[in-house]
Amino acid sequence: MAMDLEGAREQAEEQALWDKEDNNFDGWDDEDVPTRALFPDDAATFPNAEAALQHAKEQGCDVRQLVARLQLDTLQVIRLINYIRRPATQPRPTPLSIMQLTGHESFLNDDAELQPVPGYENDGLLQLDLAEEATGQDVQSELAMLRQAYNELRLQYAARLGITSADAVDATPAAAPVSTNVDKMYFDSYAGHDIHQTMIADTVRTLSYAQFILSPANAHLIRGKTVMDVGCGSGILSLFCARAGAKQVLAIDASDVAERAKANVEENGFSHVIRVFRGKMEELDEVLAPWAGQVDFLVSEWMGYFLLYESMLPSVLYARDRYLKPNGILAPSHSRMVIAAATDKGVLCERLRFWDQVHGFHMPSMTQGLMDEAATEDVEAASIVSEPATLCDLPLESLPVRQPEFTTPFRLTITKPCTVHGFVSWFDTWFAPRAHEPFRELPPVRISPVQPNEVNGLHLHRQDVVPESASTPGEHVSFTTSPFGKPTHWKQTIFLLKTPIEAQAGTIVDGEMRVYPSKTNERELEVELHYGVDERPMGEKRVATRMIQVYSVR
Ligand code: SAH
Repeated sequence: MAMDLEGAREQAEEQALWDKEDNNFDGWDDEDVPTRALFPDDAATFPNAEAALQHAKEQGCDVRQLVARLQLDTLQVIRLINYIRRPATQPRPTPLSIMQLTGHESFLNDDAELQPVPGYENDGLLQLDLAEEATGQDVQSELAMLRQAYNELRLQYAARLGITSADAVDATPAAAPVSTNVDKMYFDSYAGHDIHQTMIADTVRTLSYAQFILSPANAHLIRGKTVMDVGCGSGILSLFCARAGAKQVLAIDASDVAERAKANVEENGFSHVIRVFRGKMEELDEVLAPWAGQVDFLVSEWMGYFLLYESMLPSVLYARDRYLKPNGILAPSHSRMVIAAATDKGVLCERLRFWDQVHGFHMPSMTQGLMDEAATEDVEAASIVSEPATLCDLPLESLPVRQPEFTTPFRLTITKPCTVHGFVSWFDTWFAPRAHEPFRELPPVRISPVQPNEVNGLHLHRQDVVPESASTPGEHVSFTTSPFGKPTHWKQTIFLLKTPIEAQAGTIVDGEMRVYPSKTNERELEVELHYGVDERPMGEKRVATRMIQVYSVR
């Protein structure tokens, strides 16, 4: 019985997602699904769900208003509609009793209510995503409130300055404060010292940059050249470039840390090479105009958790298009996101297990929602139970200037009998010493961490630069953030499965990952994992259950 309910829930979840997608599909007309009246004692039928909703509203049951008031999610809306129509429901629901629901009724969270009601399986009302619409309305009203609050502040400010309120309110577009707010929080998070220490202490990261920048074989890329450092932070990468003999380094950062970078540049005697510009990359066009199309070498450490979290990449691509010379170097130049299946060898399910035993108490309610978020942890190599598959190749040179979104199918072959508790993702990054290098010509990613003694010039002090060398040009550098390499501050990203997979050696997990920016915070991501196991014994008909889980990465 429990299995059946779970099946119904998955089916409903899949249906909900399917509907959501189809609603976005041009040409699909969601108004043409035949629909019966909401209340089963009403024999009326309608050509579409809208008409049925209108009819219910006229009878005193405004479903849209109810969904918004109770903040029901997609599955709760399905349960509500099934509950109203299910013959067994007692006492019989009426428009009034439904409008008086409080949201605490147990049927709203009872998966038995996801079982389709006979005769209503394909009914149009079940295919409207009323929960999604309501969320949209919430965001709209939140936006309106923010706008109003912002305008009030502007008016107060205007009054203090003695300018007219109309000038103050009209000065910037109404939507500005929201994005400014997200940006402010983002750049504030880089203002302190901790985060920069964490990044610099990550030697896999920092020494890989240093190795590429200071390699005698790459001296021709930097010596006497113009460098731009997008998001300079403490200034560490700009300082490496200055030490490699750059003619000038334009170091840009929108966070307060830019002031510390200036001090660090002065402290180390490189003020004659490095100029720090405090501001957002996209807002410095005027001051950086002299360098449009003049930069030889563009360096940036933009990679976030799950590579794309933080959405800094578009800022780097913006700088690429505006400032980099046609054959200029991007450092790094390529990144690859990968995925593998994992079993729990300790860390993977730790967050779940924690609540099993809390000083003698059992607290499963605390795990609610936990699987809706991706986790960032160092996964042991022994947990990985498949070969990795590529999720997305990002050649920085040719990416369009926006946050990447992708839908990628993957196929993972499980290597040993085990329970697959989740999928784990990480990324690899390359620095190519020449422009236009295709992915297929890159060397395999380096797994063993770079050692300090491999990096040129780390022993130098103050404004010393590395001596000139006539070494043969061009050294690739790369690093991995995989569980097989030395741990990095990025760790790995874990997507735990609500329904683990029992697998044998050779079991094939077919999946698809969809990654797109979150609707509520453009720096966060949503990830949809669709997956299924081909359980077909040799020669038999395929039996595959498709599962869907949605995660936020934040
Ligand atoms: N380069 C440093 C810091 C990397 S962290 C290092 O390697 O240690 C990324 C930095 O980029 C942060 O300091 C952040 O404030 C900055 N940043 C991110 N997006 C930016 C943008 N659009 N404009 C300016 N700075 C940005």
